[in-house]
Amino acid sequence: MKIRFLGGAEMVGKLGMVLENKGANLLFEYGLKLRPKEPPEPPIEPPHIDHAFLTHSHVDHSGMIPWLCARNDCRVTATPMTIAVAQILLQDTIKVADSEGYPRPFEPEDIRKAMTSFATLDYGDVIDVGGLEVELHSAGHVPGATMYELRGDRTTLFTGDMHTYSTRLVYGAHPVKCDNLIVEGTYAGRLHPDRQKEENRFIQKVKEVVERGGKAIIPCFAVGRTQEAMLILKDLKYDMWVDGMGKTVNRIYLEHPEYLRSDKQLKQARNKFAEVRTPAVRDRAKRGQVIITTGGMVDGGPVLSYLDYVKDDPRSAVLMTGYQVDGSNGRKLIDGGYIEVPDYGPRGRRAAPEEIVPAPKTRRIKVKCEINQFDLSAHADHNELLAFIRGCDPEKIVIMHSENREALAKDLQDDFKVFMPKTGESIEI
Ligand SMILES: [Zn+2]
Ligand SMILES: [Zn+2]
Repeated sequence: MKIRFLGGAEMVGKLGMVLENKGANLLFEYGLKLRPKEPPEPPIEPPHIDHAFLTHSHVDHSGMIPWLCARNDCRVTATPMTIAVAQILLQDTIKVADSEGYPRPFEPEDIRKAMTSFATLDYGDVIDVGGLEVELHSAGHVPGATMYELRGDRTTLFTGDMHTYSTRLVYGAHPVKCDNLIVEGTYAGRLHPDRQKEENRFIQKVKEVVERGGKAIIPCFAVGRTQEAMLILKDLKYDMWVDGMGKTVNRIYLEHPEYLRSDKQLKQARNKFAEVRTPAVRDRAKRGQVIITTGGMVDGGPVLSYLDYVKDDPRSAVLMTGYQVDGSNGRKLIDGGYIEVPDYGPRGRRAAPEEIVPAPKTRRIKVKCEINQFDLSAHADHNELLAFIRGCDPEKIVIMHSENREALAKDLQDDFKVFMPKTGESIEI
């Protein structure tokens, strides 16, 4: 069989891979690369696709699925959980494009078409497609995330994003014996701190901030991280709030309890955090003690309004829980203690959609709170990847979804045949 990456082989973002087997084109993922203050970037265009597979809802994997479905009459396999969460992330992608003034990557009717193109399957289910028997396995990364095992003359495993460690939200993935392993390498060359210690450090820091009279503002991605942070902090007896799209994801997660490590724990966590549903309630939440809110990289979403409220209070803290790409406000906070927000001028209004206006200038806001960072990652780190790979015991390994593939290859090439194809390059496996 032949594989070709349309994007995301040598970077974290806009993943897409075509696998050609017995004349059928199978597509794995079709995502977007999100870039701070720039329009998201799609992968290269696919050939005609016979069937697509989506591992999970994160936009770097799912972001161009509506575009694909609008142009290709193919079915897209995913778990019910992935489909439900992808729908809200895709709707949000249009909302963000509109509010930033970028062209929409697809239209709402394309999302509707995608929703009717999904063929739902669950872990353990098997389908025949393109001369292959395809089985779904849990990838651990977020609830509903899937690894696809393809059985034909040889067995191939496509991992998507994966985590072997059991977090509070979801159980870790197990290796699957295969001949070809197509594996993500987001954390190639890096190690996570001991998770238990890191969670304790996070809890202690939140306590310290609240006890000194400050507020802990915790920017989190809506899918996975918001819920993980809530689970870690749920036993604290403070005035705690959750804001942003993570609230909707909580509801979807609890509608699909079979994908969670413990729906009981998530329900408890949800009861401990009051939900911010209106601007008036947000004003009340600002007087609270702990606020978990989107966006995870502080580039948009309700977090900006909380930051504006606490920015001059040195007793308060902004506790980052996710990876911050270069150029994001999260990165600027960590490196320089400031964020940049659009300055819409003295009239303080946004342009009507039909107006052609130059991109707004940005205004720098100094944040005098404590800034701290915690590693609550949902990806396997270097050593966890090595253990997983050895457990799969493949002959050939393709490393993808990584900016540091060489680090992983270095530790594997004595025992396996390792491939690091560039985007656009076809290889036979
Ligand atoms: Zn992901
Ligand atoms: Zn990813």
